[in-house]
Amino acid sequence: MGRAGVMRDTRPLLEPIAFPPIRRGRLDTLQANLGYRCNQSCIHCHVNAGPNRTEEMSSETIDVVLGFLARRRIATLDITGGAPELNPHFRRLVRAARDMSVWVMDRCNLTILEAPGQEDLAAFLAREEVEIVASLPCYLEENVDRQRGKGVFDGSIRGLKRLNALGYGREQTGLVLNLVYNPQGPSLPPAQNTLEAEYKRVLGERHGIIFNRLYTLANMPIQRFGAILISNGEFDRYLDLLRQAHVDANLDHVMCRNLLSVDWQGYVYDCDFNQMLDLPLLHDGRARVHLSDLFTADIENQPIRVAGHCYGCTAGQGSSCGGALEEAAE
Ligand code: SF4
Ligand code: SF4
Repeated sequence: MGRAGVMRDTRPLLEPIAFPPIRRGRLDTLQANLGYRCNQSCIHCHVNAGPNRTEEMSSETIDVVLGFLARRRIATLDITGGAPELNPHFRRLVRAARDMSVWVMDRCNLTILEAPGQEDLAAFLAREEVEIVASLPCYLEENVDRQRGKGVFDGSIRGLKRLNALGYGREQTGLVLNLVYNPQGPSLPPAQNTLEAEYKRVLGERHGIIFNRLYTLANMPIQRFGAILISNGEFDRYLDLLRQAHVDANLDHVMCRNLLSVDWQGYVYDCDFNQMLDLPLLHDGRARVHLSDLFTADIENQPIRVAGHCYGCTAGQGSSCGGALEEAAE
């Protein structure tokens, strides 16, 4: 199941929707998608990842990513997938980036930590001091399993315990463990701080688990979740909900202002969501730009490619993959 798969594509519905114009600021983060293979296949996955996907970043493209980090002195490498750890070059990429003192984030699904052949993954991540950003949509077992598949909740709890045992989530270790929450259906996420306190209490009391921050994200009306909205006749209502919750102040903090997203083939987008919608970065009048073309290019102040899905980043507290933006707006 790929971009041209059987699901209804929401891009034609999103593109005509007006969104306030925004421009890039200073680039500090490169988000790299290492491929679509994953040990899970979650309902809300915005890349339609799964065990049968074969797309993955090659060794040559990994070298381009490393060259880009070095040349542009990028502060943060945000690694995503699929399950990015399944890419055979994942550890080389992490080691080389850390050797350049780049802060590395791994968007980790937790169950990968106990997948065959990955038994030493958690120790590797700790040794390299990689920040872990992990999805745990709800602290209640039945909700997680409904959204992400049977047994995922138990596997996630075991993964969190394994990370805690290595020192993750404790302030003094510097090993950062952040969790991500997204709602079950077409609704806005609750206030981030309130939910974070609730997660800390319940995961602590029931499982003895600790973590640093909880990010609350709205579901993007794209890919699998977008197709579900269309087939349930809820697409327009959900878009209206996001639009009505739009807060102008969030426009200053959307992640695309300071980030570039690169796909498994090395092509560049304003963010991961634009990557999934196949809306490439606008640069130099070209239809598609490769990361290797941007080692020295001046991209600051360039317009960002916006459409209806961008309201998913600016609704309410805003989400933009980094969690609530305007906490003062609560
Ligand atoms: S674990 Fe993440 S990448 Fe894998 S299917 Fe679920 S949402 Fe997609
Ligand atoms: S989806 Fe969000 S991060 Fe992506 S271009 Fe739109 S506002 Fe920016």
